[in-house]
Amino acid sequence: MNLTELTFGNLTFKLAQGDITKLPAEAIVNAANKYLEHGGGVALAIAKAAAGDPYEYIKISKEAMREQIGRNHIEHGEVVVTPALNMERFGIKYVIHTVGPYCGGKWDENLKEKLKKAILGALRKAEELNISSIAFPAISAGIYGCPLGEVVKTFLKVVEEFSGEAESVKEVYLVLYSKKDAERALKILG
Ligand code: ADP
Repeated sequence: MNLTELTFGNLTFKLAQGDITKLPAEAIVNAANKYLEHGGGVALAIAKAAAGDPYEYIKISKEAMREQIGRNHIEHGEVVVTPALNMERFGIKYVIHTVGPYCGGKWDENLKEKLKKAILGALRKAEELNISSIAFPAISAGIYGCPLGEVVKTFLKVVEEFSGEAESVKEVYLVLYSKKDAERALKILG
């Protein structure tokens, strides 16, 4: 599953290929929409893997959002944590929901800043939860239409910057679902 890794101080950034719902990191990140509806893509895969019935996980997520944020939506940089439920058998404890930007094929500094916030919010929550490993999907590179290469480069930059403040977090995975995406990411990182 592991393709390559880069080290920044005490932090290792690992590129992996496969299904994030089976990746043994203490937290996996969901590329959610702002209402945590989990209607498609990786969000639906996580909701099904966690709870069986995706509607049950949507309910759990919305309740957690009300408790943790006090609103019925999240902004870029805000995150919600839910238990991994059935994914606990793979060693996953938490799902951290974050919302990336909608690009629709475009890319600019503003979209990059929003993606950076979404990634950093999840990394900081992992520190707060005192966990050592966290796995991300390619946030915004699917239905939200951000260019995969830019998404990968943004991950690299944020993880490098975050390494200066990381204490408990030691491993950050970027998990690409398809072999083709993984090969493209490998070219950028390698
Ligand atoms: P967004 O709406 O943020 O673009 P998507 O779920 O559509 O989110 O896609 C984000 C990325 O997640 C895409 O690269 C997609 O291929 C990938 N993906 C979809 N299912 C999985 C999965 N089970 N594990 C890992 N990545 C996945």
